[in-house]
Amino acid sequence: MQPVHKSQKLANVCYDIRGPVLEHARKMEDEGHRIIKLNIGNPAPFGFFAPDEIIEDVIVNLPGASGYSDSKGLFAARKAIMHYAQEKALPNVGMEDIYIGNGVSELIMVAMQALLDAGDEVLVPAPDYPLWTAAVSLAGGRAVHYLCDESAGWFPDLDDIRAKITPNTRAIVIINPNNPTGAVYPPELLAHIVEIARQHQLIIYADEIYDKVLYDGVSHTSIASLAPDVLCITLNGLSKNYRAAGFRVGWLIVSGEKRHARDYIEGLNMLCSMRLCANVQGQHAIQTALGGYQSIDDLVAPHGRLCRQRDLAWKLLTEIPGVSCVKPQGALYLFPRLDPAVYPIADDQQFILELLQQEKVLLVQGTGFNWVAPDHFRVVFLPNTDDLTDAIGRIARFLENVRKQ
Ligand code: PLP
Repeated sequence: MQPVHKSQKLANVCYDIRGPVLEHARKMEDEGHRIIKLNIGNPAPFGFFAPDEIIEDVIVNLPGASGYSDSKGLFAARKAIMHYAQEKALPNVGMEDIYIGNGVSELIMVAMQALLDAGDEVLVPAPDYPLWTAAVSLAGGRAVHYLCDESAGWFPDLDDIRAKITPNTRAIVIINPNNPTGAVYPPELLAHIVEIARQHQLIIYADEIYDKVLYDGVSHTSIASLAPDVLCITLNGLSKNYRAAGFRVGWLIVSGEKRHARDYIEGLNMLCSMRLCANVQGQHAIQTALGGYQSIDDLVAPHGRLCRQRDLAWKLLTEIPGVSCVKPQGALYLFPRLDPAVYPIADDQQFILELLQQEKVLLVQGTGFNWVAPDHFRVVFLPNTDDLTDAIGRIARFLENVRKQ
């Protein structure tokens, strides 16, 4: 038999959040070990369930959800997204500009497949949510990483963005609130990015999936709201804000200047038609979610479970010698730094694997987020305070041994 190889398209595609270390953790679980998992931003397994009203609505609509919907999605759901777009002040959005997908993940893939030809470049943040880099590569483009500056609260380095623009640059990706850093970008910074996009005719892709998961009273501005004259693609969904990741519901909104983008929009329409439609049961959750009680507020308030867990995890991590961390203002993650003078790590995947083997704690290494050096890791702070205390205690013990070596 001839060996069956994966396609060459996958040669540069990498998604380490569910990568080799996770496989190792699964084997350890099969052998009976209990692993504390701080690796995936999946709210429900940690007791953050979708609001009851959403579940009830999905159940009530289940019998009618057995057929396909329109490729762009159910009308009522898209109407609710339209209302959301108006609330976020997205300019020049009509019903035809709204696409529902099987999670933001599918729409990121569709958006990149529809855009890119060989040699096209897309500016993607470092660190990033690595699906963006993977989707650009899979679509035949090249992800060019612009730096986010840890010493400046992980905000994008505007000079680095400018320096990395070439005649092949088609677009810039903004993840705000950011995964993995938790940074939330102020309007002034977003306005500078819009200006760069305007000058260089770049499309802006804004991944705003955590736009309600905000701490310390910060507010969120959609970059598209500042860019009526730029083509913007804003992505959002129910996975995080409404703790319904398993429903696989996301949406994409085209806004701003669209007249020159008719051909691209045709491409988006075609790809959405080819996958027929998004999961219809999940689509029924959208109207209730967006129109209902925004119950995430209770979780992110200072006394709320998410905020308390963030504060505890940040405090415990930054008490470890040689560990520093910008306190996240949004999302579900901490992205601590290991001082290379204290922890001279050459291979951070190996480091994370050894931590797993010795302490039964599962994290994701910083280079898995296309970070430039092996000196960071990401911690999901969804587990309850007992598990977080236990896990970070184990990380501290592991690091103490590294210091002694
Ligand atoms: N974008 C970001 C920044 C994410 O962190 C995630 C999931 O963790 C996604 C997109 C994927 O979301 P979905 O569940 O809608 O596919």
